[in-house]
Amino acid sequence: MSYLIEGESGDWDVVIGLEVHAQITSQAKLFSGSATAFGAGPNTQVSLVDAAMPGMLPVINEYCVEQAVKTGLGLKAQINRHSVFERKNYFYADLPQGYQISQFAEPIVGEGIVVLDMPDGTTREIGIERLHMEQDAGKSMHDQDPKRSFIDLNRSGVALMEIVSKPDLRSPEEAGMYVRKLRSILRYLGTCDGNMEEGSMRADVNVSVRPAGSGELRTRTETKNVNSVRFIMQVIEHESARQVQAYESDEEIVQETRLFDAARGETRSMRSKEFAHDYRYFPDPDLLPVVLSEDEVEAIRASLPELPDDIKQRFIDTMGLTAYDAGVLVADKETANYFEQVAKGHDAKIAANWVTGNLFGALNKAGRSIADSPVTADALSELLDLMADDTISGRIAKDVFEEMFETGRGAKQIVEDKGLEQITDTGAIEAAVDAVVTDNPDQVADFRGGNEKAIGWFVGQVMKATEGKANPKLVNELLRKKLAK
Ligand code: MN
Repeated sequence: MSYLIEGESGDWDVVIGLEVHAQITSQAKLFSGSATAFGAGPNTQVSLVDAAMPGMLPVINEYCVEQAVKTGLGLKAQINRHSVFERKNYFYADLPQGYQISQFAEPIVGEGIVVLDMPDGTTREIGIERLHMEQDAGKSMHDQDPKRSFIDLNRSGVALMEIVSKPDLRSPEEAGMYVRKLRSILRYLGTCDGNMEEGSMRADVNVSVRPAGSGELRTRTETKNVNSVRFIMQVIEHESARQVQAYESDEEIVQETRLFDAARGETRSMRSKEFAHDYRYFPDPDLLPVVLSEDEVEAIRASLPELPDDIKQRFIDTMGLTAYDAGVLVADKETANYFEQVAKGHDAKIAANWVTGNLFGALNKAGRSIADSPVTADALSELLDLMADDTISGRIAKDVFEEMFETGRGAKQIVEDKGLEQITDTGAIEAAVDAVVTDNPDQVADFRGGNEKAIGWFVGQVMKATEGKANPKLVNELLRKKLAK
């Protein structure tokens, strides 16, 4: 997928790297027992550790460490069995410690991979540079009072994974695909709920541009805390265009931190970028290094669920689905489960068509997700049964599906109540065939004169006469017999 920015001096490539902060799914924070539930009243989930009271000591939450390792394994990454928490020193009102406990020189997870499923059915690998654990800061609220700012420390100390990609992304679309895929993997793993609107996932977007094909890496800017896929893509579009314009006006791009203004769809300079050495990182003397045994890592590996890339391959290999369909079906866990349930005992391709076509279409139109679909997997499966045993035609099935979706009623019930069973009684179909043939001498002459395609018109007429209930195969057979005379 090539994305070029046209400048006056020629075309430009964009180079993108993302640092995604993903909240670890855990009942308690990274270094305290405080709750992490979303939406609690301000400062109701704050322990003395989270408020950085003097003398308080952090105690590592083992479960969060396991979750980070699990994530690393899901990203096919190297797990570092020795990692170190360090203090990242900076002052901010919502950071009562005066430093963030993070990992720097020795993160828990090293290089890994995220595989993108491209629209043409191919795949593309995006490198993961590292994954480290760190604690979140609190939240400053500047819009609650005309004169004062408030601080909510509920998030203070919540466990995060910072997942840093290599600068492998080349377009806004790819960046969007990457975030969606990463979110999907985290959800399959159960290590982050991925709810961006609740702040469980947000990205720092690093963007630079370079003359097309040059291969150099120029100065990048970092736009902080972007909290939706759409916004991430907007940041890249805006920021890359801005940089091209700057270079072409002989301006310099400085390494800096920028903010995204969602209302205006543009980025703004926030502060000149600090460098790692500005933070005076040093190992936190209150915490021992995290040391994992091989057995511990292997036990976590053994607990991994089947992940989207593997399920996709299985759908292709054992069900004969196309790479594209398989990719769409595994994009989220609920859809994959739903599809597997529908496909059981049915032709997988037919099941895939119903899920990605009729079901997705109806869900989209209704603005609903598959998790609250009015047609359950079992209900759709029943509808496919009715088609498979010729109780109804595919044409009628579409109407039945619509009614199922609207009313939540079962397929069998609808078919019975409305008398939609397919007519397989040869006599009844023959009568309709006879009538159509008798009433349309011109078309009959046309067909007999060699226009084979006219058969479609006859089939349509008979189906119309039988309200779509005639078995199309029988109609075809009987018509051909009749017209041959
Ligand atoms: Mn971070």
